Amino acid sequence: MTIQEIIKKSLQEIKSRGLQLTPDTYSEIFCRHAKRANVIFEDCQRLEKFLKRLSPELQESVKNRHVSTLDQLVQYLASEVMRSDTKKSGEIIQAYVLLVKRLLQAVSMLHDKKAAQLAEKDIKKIVPYLEKGEIDAIREHWNRFVMEYDDSFLNRLNPYCDADTSDLEAMVDDLVACFKSREGSGGDLSLVAQLIVASLVPSIASGMNDEIATVSAQIRSNPELLTSPAMMEDIRHMIKKRIELDKKAVVSRMTELDTIIEHINLTLVRVVDCGETNHDAISKIQGELGEVNLGIDSFEVIHAKLLAIANSLETETRVLSDEMKQSQEDVTELRQKVRVLEDALRKERKKSGTDTLTKLPNRRAIDDFLSKQEAAFKRYGDNYAAVLFDIDHFKSVNDTYGHDAGDVILASFGKMLRRYSRELDFVGRWGGEEFLVVLPKTDKEGAYKFAEKLRDVVSKSKFMYKGTRIPVTVSGGVADRASSESMEEVLKRADKNLYSAKAGGRNRIVV
Ligand code: GH3
Ligand code: MG
Ligand code: MG
Repeated sequence: MTIQEIIKKSLQEIKSRGLQLTPDTYSEIFCRHAKRANVIFEDCQRLEKFLKRLSPELQESVKNRHVSTLDQLVQYLASEVMRSDTKKSGEIIQAYVLLVKRLLQAVSMLHDKKAAQLAEKDIKKIVPYLEKGEIDAIREHWNRFVMEYDDSFLNRLNPYCDADTSDLEAMVDDLVACFKSREGSGGDLSLVAQLIVASLVPSIASGMNDEIATVSAQIRSNPELLTSPAMMEDIRHMIKKRIELDKKAVVSRMTELDTIIEHINLTLVRVVDCGETNHDAISKIQGELGEVNLGIDSFEVIHAKLLAIANSLETETRVLSDEMKQSQEDVTELRQKVRVLEDALRKERKKSGTDTLTKLPNRRAIDDFLSKQEAAFKRYGDNYAAVLFDIDHFKSVNDTYGHDAGDVILASFGKMLRRYSRELDFVGRWGGEEFLVVLPKTDKEGAYKFAEKLRDVVSKSKFMYKGTRIPVTVSGGVADRASSESMEEVLKRADKNLYSAKAGGRNRIVV
């Protein structure tokens, strides 16, 4: 058969079968006729080549589907892949979701209220397509629940029945069997009554004892009461109250422990502060503290251990503080003695009338001398004058060169006054940086001359301190008795004039 004949036959078939002439139908029918005529066309082999690469199962299913072109093959394979993907993984996910829902439904039927609520909430959230965040949130709920879950209350059943509390179903069976076996001795209700009484007994807090005792007695003597709504309400109320009390008890116990620990800390600090002699005491206490295990020990054990430590610390510090108090008292006593001695010395100096820094007569001695002058004035009319000197800006001398420098200047100025005054003149330290010179048988003019000479000498002198020259000037106020009403007025006037000298610009004498 020639190619033309094969083409002719193919077209005839398409026409007779009423098929549409598309490239696909044409190549399908053409390749079939070519194959029958044993003519090999490269184009007709492509599908077969592909088919050979597929797995035997797929080749089988391709055959069943009458796939005869490459396009059909691709279409078929794509649908297969899609179908197998969504179908298989979809089935698995569906199965998982159902399983989780069943588990949560089971949990929601358990006795634990918190677990039941959690389960009910999450059942609604479990759908085939969950975001990662949603899955994480659900897992977090349950992690938290498992961490907080405490079923130790089941141990309370122990005194009554030997039930397997690790398996809920087995536990119920055990309890039923156990109660049945005791039926002769009081029946189910009385046992339930005992259980309820046991659960009412405070676990931590000790309050409510009377209330519980009353209700317990009632239930015990008449278990039938349990079926009355009023009693149920009572019990519910009491359990709630007891839980509150327990909570409070835990808080107060923690506070108690905190107080003890704080006390220990404070005392430890005190012991450490007291110095090196207490190494042994401290390491002993540290050792004892190390034995306190807040995680494992019960409240009573921790409480006892901490109290013991606190007590031994207490004794330790009492010994220490006694010692400290003793030495403190010694120091206070010594200080007292020194103060008495200082006072005595000051009094002694005052009595002696000498100023310690300048070795000049002090104010008291000046007063004595002035009184004598006043007596002479009153008796013989002997005039006398007074000059009050005050060093200028002495505060800044102290501030700039130091107080010691100031002292040196005071002493030097005192010597200078002595050197430039007459034998008869009385030079004294009036106080601070003020000096008073009393000049017997002298009027204010004579006193002014003396004062002015001194002012001049001072301003030209070299006051040296530790190799530094300190410039010093003085001001002075002059007055004499003849121009005054009284001895007091002499001093007042001298002071007033000194003030004028300062106000007039310092380094001057005013009479
Ligand atoms: P003014 O020119 O107005 O007199 O000024 P001032 O700084 O000299 O006067 P002020 O009264 O303000 O300061 C006097 C200073 O003298 C203050 C005080 O500390 C100082 N002073 C008093 N007695 C002593 C002393 O014995 N030794 C020393 N170093 N300074 C003293
Ligand atoms: Mg002064
Ligand atoms: Mg001064």
